[in-house]
Amino acid sequence: MQTIDVLVIGAGPAGTVAASYLVKQGYKVSILEKEKFPRFQIGESLLPCCMEYLDESGLLEAVIPKGFQKKTGAAFMRGEKRCEFYFSEQYTKGWTWTWQVKRADFDLTLAEATRAKGVDVLFECEVISVQCSPDRQIVEYKDPEGALHVIESKFIIDSSGYGRVLPRLFDLSKPSAFTPRGAVFSHLEDINRTEDASNNIFVHSFDNNRSWIWAIPFSDGSTSVGIVGDQEKIVELTENNGEKYKEFIQNFADLKGRFKESKLKFEPKNILGYSIGVKQMFGEGFVLSGNSTEFLDPIFSSGVTFATASGLLSAKMTHKHLQGEAVDWKTDYEDVIQKGIDVFRSYVSGWYNGDFQTIVFAKEIDLDFKNQICSVLAGYVWDQSNPFVKKHDTILGTLAKVIRMKEREV
Ligand SMILES: Cc1cc2nc3c(=O)[nH]c(=O)nc-3n(C[C@H](O)[C@H](O)[C@H](O)COP(=O)(O)OP(=O)(O)OC[C@H]3O[C@@H](n4cnc5c(N)ncnc54)[C@H](O)[C@@H]3O)c2cc1C
Repeated sequence: MQTIDVLVIGAGPAGTVAASYLVKQGYKVSILEKEKFPRFQIGESLLPCCMEYLDESGLLEAVIPKGFQKKTGAAFMRGEKRCEFYFSEQYTKGWTWTWQVKRADFDLTLAEATRAKGVDVLFECEVISVQCSPDRQIVEYKDPEGALHVIESKFIIDSSGYGRVLPRLFDLSKPSAFTPRGAVFSHLEDINRTEDASNNIFVHSFDNNRSWIWAIPFSDGSTSVGIVGDQEKIVELTENNGEKYKEFIQNFADLKGRFKESKLKFEPKNILGYSIGVKQMFGEGFVLSGNSTEFLDPIFSSGVTFATASGLLSAKMTHKHLQGEAVDWKTDYEDVIQKGIDVFRSYVSGWYNGDFQTIVFAKEIDLDFKNQICSVLAGYVWDQSNPFVKKHDTILGTLAKVIRMKEREV
């Protein structure tokens, strides 16, 4: 039986960031990844804050030469109203840009760079069962030929994303408090795109704040377009080989001409009921990171940022643990990650209950407030000096109330 220091489950952003950090510390690390890469994954618009984690794990330099589409901001629209955020105009001093990526290429780049650093990355190897104890973890996996193998490690980082390997095996999942929603998406040719349209994610709100549509341009001239809303509507829009989906896009002024004649790169795919929580993010011999923990909602593109943030922090704590230092997993890991998730939870709630939209679509918006909100949208949700982080649970509601009163008076 092969014995290693750390076994990472999943070669998405959470897993590769964790593995890269640990191999740099001198550990023997393997990743077991169910799929053959490159593989499609949703989650294409990154946030500037994730550049910090890619950098610290040593993966950023492998991504830079790939020439992914630079992203410098986000534009929100509702009917005729429009509000643009530029990451260069934000409160927290941090990254002012990031990328929009086809995850097949991005994740392959991360996985290859991780392997080049000395991590054994095994594709098409699906984890089937796990037995955990304080210092000996036994993992059974199936190889591409269907043969079963066993690997032993001192510690496990579960970064299996939507696969949720340990939450499923150890009954750790917990339902989300958000209304279940779904998304339907594809990539389209985008030959009519303007330069301004390239650097941003575009989000249109419709259906009384219940639904929205994204446009995420890529560097190869194609664009990801996705519709988020009630699950029944999403299932309906997926039908008919993409005809209903393409027709629906024509309802939005600046997408109408742009995609009228565009060919779909693949038939629309959908994903339903993706919001999920977790009872705890760690246990004897293991820690969860990325989407294996909690996934809220795609509206603010926070998934990869949380995957890389939690991937890196889980690796740092694992390093401490393997050095024989006492780790308070609750305080030093779970509570830290949870704090960031809770900030975004307030903004996701504010998006669907209308408070966030009242603020960004107000006739006037205080520039300091806008810059502080911009830092949240850039992913800097651990910056407690930002009032829009610190008072996240009340500030949107209070400000929206003031704006509504003011706009009624005018
Ligand atoms: C509709 C929608 C839109 C989104 N848009 C965005 C966005 O614009 N920006 C953003 O940042 N995020 C977005 N997200 C979220 C994003 O998809 C995830 O947060 C992100 O991919 C999480 O990364 P991860 O590394 O945790 O997991 P993943 O990227 O899912 O990687 C996990 C890996 O684990 C592997 N795995 C699973 N089971 C097993 C097993 N049994 N054995 C071995 N390997 C296994 C999988 O094959 C996979 O490769 C969106 C989500 C949804 C639902």
